[in-house]
Amino acid sequence: MISGIIVSKGIALGKALLINLYKKNIKKEKISKKKIKLEIKKFLKSIKKSVNQIKKIKKYTEKKIGKDKSEIFEGHIMILQDDELSKDIINYINKKYTAEISTKKVIKKQIKKMRKIKNKYLKNRIIDIKDIGKRIIDNILNVNIKKLSKIDKKVILICKDLTPSETSEINKKNILGFITELGGETSHTSIIAKSLGIPAIVGVKNITKQVKNKDFIILDSINNEIYINPNKEIITLKKKIKKNFFKNKQKLEIFKNLKAITLDGKKIKIGANINKIDDICLAKKNGAQSIGLYRTEFLYMGKNRLPTEEEQFIVYKKIIEKMKNKEVIMRTLDIGGDKSCKYLNLPKEENPFLGYRAIRIYSKKINIIRTQLRAMLRASNFGKLKIMFPMIISLEEIYFLKKELKRAKKKLKEENISFNKNIKIGIMIETPAAALISDSLSKEVDFFSIGSNDLTQYTLAVDRGNDLVSHLYDPMHPSVMKLIKMVVKSSHKNGKWTGICGELASNPLATKFLIKIGIDEFSINSPEIPNIKKIIRKSYFKKKNKTF
Ligand code: PEP
Ligand code: MG
Repeated sequence: MISGIIVSKGIALGKALLINLYKKNIKKEKISKKKIKLEIKKFLKSIKKSVNQIKKIKKYTEKKIGKDKSEIFEGHIMILQDDELSKDIINYINKKYTAEISTKKVIKKQIKKMRKIKNKYLKNRIIDIKDIGKRIIDNILNVNIKKLSKIDKKVILICKDLTPSETSEINKKNILGFITELGGETSHTSIIAKSLGIPAIVGVKNITKQVKNKDFIILDSINNEIYINPNKEIITLKKKIKKNFFKNKQKLEIFKNLKAITLDGKKIKIGANINKIDDICLAKKNGAQSIGLYRTEFLYMGKNRLPTEEEQFIVYKKIIEKMKNKEVIMRTLDIGGDKSCKYLNLPKEENPFLGYRAIRIYSKKINIIRTQLRAMLRASNFGKLKIMFPMIISLEEIYFLKKELKRAKKKLKEENISFNKNIKIGIMIETPAAALISDSLSKEVDFFSIGSNDLTQYTLAVDRGNDLVSHLYDPMHPSVMKLIKMVVKSSHKNGKWTGICGELASNPLATKFLIKIGIDEFSINSPEIPNIKKIIRKSYFKKKNKTF
């Protein structure tokens, strides 16, 4: 029996799929003369395989999106079948480079050449060349380029680590749960597992060495127990626990559509945290009255370039419309930390969580925030949208963001494009600095939302994603609680409201405390909503709560 850090509760039984087997292993050393033929064969086979894969993608795109969009792939096929490209790569193989290194070198050369050309169309084709190069190399190395969303058998994922964007691609129907070697309680990977409601345990030392593909796994993230090929008795016992777990969940169903109101009549707004448009369905099903946090960065992470204003506008509008006149709080891009976006080419940092993250990148990459604010403002015309800014530490940052918002409004007005002129703005309180100056900050914005995940890591100096210090990561540490209390007080003093969208809002042990100090809105991982509603309905706001 093995254990780790529970990040999302549940029980899964199924076959293991080790996905670290598929990570690339590009060998740098040269090959011997004898191996040249074999490498050329590998390369040619990979070209054939790549062409077939793209033909399938083309067909699929044509059916799902339209013929015009599928034409891009015709171009990919032409590049793959270009004799000059193959000749160049084979030349390198003849110089005793492996097929993958030879491909990498030729693709790099091509890109360099294209960058020098002033033609905008050709410049845009660089992405295609990169994509093709990656595909050829993946096929040479036999890397499984199937996306996690495409896994079509029921499995339990076992891997060293999962990035937040990989996790967001998980198809719940087939991925029964996951176990990773790295990760902490509130890393974004863990948060996504919780919001999807799939069992997950992270920080399990050497799990990828202990498990073989297709081993039978029991992942019990209620009791923090992992079994590899267990005996019949354990399987029977765990199946029973699983059944009870679902029975208890079903009992909570009645709370889904009830109001979150305390025994002494204080109404509390219950929102949901979402990362993608598809998450709305689960949020509504669990009784969310609003979206308290939409992490827009997942829209950026799922692409190989920045989303355009139009692409963003379409998504934002759809989200607002799906929520049918209920409030939606959209947070501007919070990239950095454990959420990476390769194409932004952000520098590698020693301390990414203390570095170039969120609003800190806006001033150097001003078009990012300008485009996003335009898209959000345009979407604001279709419902109750509020804009929220992450990682604030000073008043100057708010002045800068307000100036940008004013500029975006002015431009849209000049272009006769409508938007909500009285759009409300809020900030995340997720740094001790913001909490300590919350009195001044609250005079500048309409609302606060407490990001307890970051607030905890920055207050306690404990990396939220590091399993080595996860035992020190305590969102209910008195220092964090004191800061939260202070923030609520400052906002109320200035006639504003405070919500909480960090994981603490989904933690049943914290609910009574949060009610007592006057939190106005809880934004929760959807599967936890019924349970938190139940606790609120059994708590007092003014009278002393029994357990508090
Ligand atoms: C937080 O820090 O608590 C928060 C909600 O933001 P994120 O988890 O996306 O950093
Ligand atoms: Mg945060």
